Amino acid sequence: TLIMSFESSCDETSVAIIKNGKEILSNIIATQIKSHQRFGGVVPEVASRHHVEEVTKCINLALDEAKVGYEDLDAVAVTYGPGLVGSLLIGIMAAKTVAFAHNLPLIKVNHLAGHIYSANFVTELQYPFMALLVSGGHTELVLVTAPGEFHTLGDTRDDAVGEAYDKIGRVLGINYPAGKKVDQMAAIGNDTFDFPRAMVKEDNLDFSFSGLKSAFINRVHHADQIDEELNKDDLAASFQGAVLDILVNKTFKALKQHPVKQLIVAGGVSANQGLRQRLAAEMKKRNMDMELVFPPLRLCGDNAAMIGAMAQIQYDKKDFADLDLNADPSLDFDME
Ligand code: ATP
Ligand code: MG
Ligand code: FE
Repeated sequence: TLIMSFESSCDETSVAIIKNGKEILSNIIATQIKSHQRFGGVVPEVASRHHVEEVTKCINLALDEAKVGYEDLDAVAVTYGPGLVGSLLIGIMAAKTVAFAHNLPLIKVNHLAGHIYSANFVTELQYPFMALLVSGGHTELVLVTAPGEFHTLGDTRDDAVGEAYDKIGRVLGINYPAGKKVDQMAAIGNDTFDFPRAMVKEDNLDFSFSGLKSAFINRVHHADQIDEELNKDDLAASFQGAVLDILVNKTFKALKQHPVKQLIVAGGVSANQGLRQRLAAEMKKRNMDMELVFPPLRLCGDNAAMIGAMAQIQYDKKDFADLDLNADPSLDFDME
């Protein structure tokens, strides 16, 4: 089965050609980060305009690189949420056009399901598995009981973890998106500031990062006021130390309740080197017989390949969308 997939939920325009949900024939990603950096975050209207300009080029590049034509395709898949409505609509219109013109079934894919199924390019998934989804807009623990069956066990009550990285990064003078740089600084610095680990003592699987973010920002502003010089690497290491303690605490709580053979970590923050090392170390410490799966770095951020991987499952179930498909900006699991 050959699926052309589209992703345009935020600031990446991406088109991929995926074979059997497993093999990436092409995965073209046009990023707009530079256009948004001077605003310190993604500007929705700017994003939509970029998608309009890029999407056709991405289609042609994806077909060229995969060395296939429209006649070889079996289906067209597209992210329909969550994300920015104006951005989602561009991908949806492009996908509908290809589906309509070439008489192909249309598959509507949840962006978060796509992130989780980026693991399909790395390993043979064994159900049930646990997914820790850490991205710019989401922080969730999801139990996946069968192909495409998602159950949210825990969620963030306020900020997403990637969002927290971006906001504290701004205070450190780092360009958007700040996650990667904060991760690099954290590797150099030491965890010397005592930042709060919210909700770790609570008997639930939810997260909270806004208190940590505020504590960080207040500490830096206080230092500015009294002309105190703070070590930025230590600040980054202390922030990341708190983030990792929280993620590890909740993830292993979830694994205790639901013993599984695989832990999948996905979303933009799954690129975090500190997180990768820490989870591996914690598993070893607990002597757990479990496979720890991270997507390759180029599939951690937004991309259409992961959408094609999820779409294959829906294709097999003949779960097709109508041509009146609309965007669902606040789509989440448990509501489909
Ligand atoms: P969502 O997937 O929830 O809709 P999104 O698509 O905007 O949100 P992603 O593209 O999956 O989010 O991830 C982007 C986020 O990942 C940004 O917040 C970025 O700072 C963060 N990020 C990227 N690399 C790292 C890293 N090495 N460490 C921490 N955070 C990182
Ligand atoms: Mg992005
Ligand atoms: Fe994403």
